[in-house]
Order: sequence, then structure tokens, then C-alpha cells
Amino acid sequence: MSVIILEGVLFVALIAAGATLVYVVLMHFTPVGVRLRQTQNRRRIDRAAEQDCPIHGPRAEKDLVRLASGDLMCPDCYKENVHG
Ligand SMILES: [Zn+2]
Repeated sequence: MSVIILEGVLFVALIAAGATLVYVVLMHFTPVGVRLRQTQNRRRIDRAAEQDCPIHGPRAEKDLVRLASGDLMCPDCYKENVHG
């Protein structure tokens, strides 16, 4: 009985190791990986730029206000624009 369980665990470990190998090869040795990293870089820089208000300086992501259009705005700019 324990041999069957051990065989099952080893099979799952083999599948996980194979999937990890495919992921590592895909991300580090193919043009697809470079494209994905470039997209991640763009998102990271865009997110950092959205958090940095040109008037009030950097803000935490959780403090930003999401407008109806989907854009993010500094809470102080939102107060000034909406409530005067
Ligand atoms: Zn602001």
C-alpha cells in the first residue's frame, strides 16, 4: 500500500519538476520570455508612475482614488478637483 502512495507522490513530483523546467526554459531562453519580461517591466513602471503625483509627490497604491474612467488619481488632487 505504501509503495503505491509513494509512486503517486513521485509521479506528481515528476510532473511538477517537468512543468517547472518548461517554465524556466520558456522564461529565460526564448523570445517569449523576453517579451513577457518587457511587458512586466512596462506594467511595473506604469504602476510606479501612477503612484507619483507631480504636485503632491509619491503616494501609496492603497491611497489612490480610482475614477469612473478607470484611471488612478492622487487623493489630494481628487479633493481639489471634485470638492474645490
Ligand atoms: Zn496630487
